[in-house]
Amino acid sequence: MKRTILLLILPAIMIMLPAQASKPEEVKPVKNLIVMIPDGCSLPAVSVARWLQWYNQPNSPQLNIDPYLCGTVSTFSSNAPIGDSAPTTSCYMTGYPSRTGYVSTYPPSDKDNDIFPTDPNKAYQPLATVLEAMKIAQNKATGLVFTCEFPHATPADCSAHSYRRGNYHWIAPQMVHNDLDVVIGGGVSLLTGEMESYLAANGYGVYRNDLRGMRADTNNKMWALYGDREMAYDADRNPDEQPSIEEMTRMAIEKLSRNENGFFLMVEGSKIDWAAHSNDPVGMYTDFLAFDRACGAALEFARNNGETAVVIVPDHGNSGFSLGTRNCPGYDKLTKDQLFRQFSQYKLTAEGFARKLNSEPYSEVQNIFRQYAGLELSEEELHALAQVKDYKNSPVPAEERSSEGVEPSLYSGSLTSFMAKLLTSKTCFGFTTGGHTGEEVFIASYHPGGTPPTGHRTNIELNEYLCRAAGLPLSLDDLTHRIFARHTDVFKDYTCEIIPAYDATGSPTLIVKNRKDRNKQLTITPFTNIVKSGRKGEEEIRLNSVIVYVDANNTFYLPESLAEYLRSVQ
Ligand SMILES: [Zn+2]
Repeated sequence: MKRTILLLILPAIMIMLPAQASKPEEVKPVKNLIVMIPDGCSLPAVSVARWLQWYNQPNSPQLNIDPYLCGTVSTFSSNAPIGDSAPTTSCYMTGYPSRTGYVSTYPPSDKDNDIFPTDPNKAYQPLATVLEAMKIAQNKATGLVFTCEFPHATPADCSAHSYRRGNYHWIAPQMVHNDLDVVIGGGVSLLTGEMESYLAANGYGVYRNDLRGMRADTNNKMWALYGDREMAYDADRNPDEQPSIEEMTRMAIEKLSRNENGFFLMVEGSKIDWAAHSNDPVGMYTDFLAFDRACGAALEFARNNGETAVVIVPDHGNSGFSLGTRNCPGYDKLTKDQLFRQFSQYKLTAEGFARKLNSEPYSEVQNIFRQYAGLELSEEELHALAQVKDYKNSPVPAEERSSEGVEPSLYSGSLTSFMAKLLTSKTCFGFTTGGHTGEEVFIASYHPGGTPPTGHRTNIELNEYLCRAAGLPLSLDDLTHRIFARHTDVFKDYTCEIIPAYDATGSPTLIVKNRKDRNKQLTITPFTNIVKSGRKGEEEIRLNSVIVYVDANNTFYLPESLAEYLRSVQ
């Protein structure tokens, strides 16, 4: 009898409760807040980037972030210790851990696995972000800089809401209609005509693959996009076609700092994560160094400006990257030349090499490797290359390609993956996975008032720090209640009808009528800040937040203030 009772108690204790902070941390509010996220950047990637910078430039032993390294963050999802990009930056922005794929949206409960208790009644609730709070409650300018496509996880986490990170048809219009001031990054093919007309009609400069146009832009508000979807890795980038992340950061700060109330800017080194997923050490360190130069630009502005805090923090680890592997015995006697000379000669990422090989004849292979890698391939490596399925210029007909005679550690279906393995095979770098990892991540920060986020904290506590640094006049929960109320609560005194969507990517329409006054009617479509008022939708109501529809619970989340438009004038 006694044993059974003991078993029951144990699981209950497993639900961990947030650490009770002794006294609230003192954080001096600032006018401007810059959050910089090297996506999927584990600390060893920072170490290798510093070594390579120092190896290539003997007078540059330090990274721009080095003087500001000040702590670590445990970052996780609501029901899993190893996070995904969507919920991890969402937590930094909203204060709530969530599930894989969830963009600034409250998770459904997962009783047995939730790390902190969750409220099942709040499932799918859009959650106000620090960016939205600074825009709405402080009239500050807001901006996003990134190298992925604009609706991708991290930029979306700051400015949109969806429980499916892949639903770009929900996310992209929200980002356009959330009236961000400056957006620079990838995703030309994802900006629809409707979105562009809305931006143009509202005073934005809009540029698609137009570096010259962007550089000449004088507007306060601007969208500049490069690449159909993501931008090129920094090492593969054509500087006549695409700007560096440093230039994008400087341009965003220049425009945003014109706002006398101040600004919020998020800068993401998006593709450090993509390179880590591909186990491509060249993409990891070169995109990190490009990101570090953007950090240099932001820190320089902050030091000169005196009213700006900068917080630099990855969203999660990736790939289990290490400097030192079992393939390199005698680890403690390996010289910097043995470790870095060959590697320092790589001038393209694995993806860059794949593009190059697929764009030039097989006869040019050795020239390509001599020019961009400082080496020639052996017979075995040439044979392995020729067997790669998606290598367009292979001398071996596709149907005859196989792994036969190919060194197993080199055999790959994709040219990018083959290149990542080949480039790594000549180094002492190791990888444990092609996925995210659960170790804590670093923080580097500059605060003009001397209150940077030091020590270890959780992702939730980092959000608390950001809210204090922003000096928000209200809690994010209060703002969430105000701008993302359920239509069933807001319009409980009126007639609501949801008209189903016409097609799969279409969205339903909510019609709300005042039974007592037939002229009082609202026509509401989601993922926008525009509401039509009147029986024929003759009037437009412009909101300073976006309306979100969640199909999982057939609910519109919208500002509670909308009810006022339906009240009959007595
Ligand atoms: Zn990520």
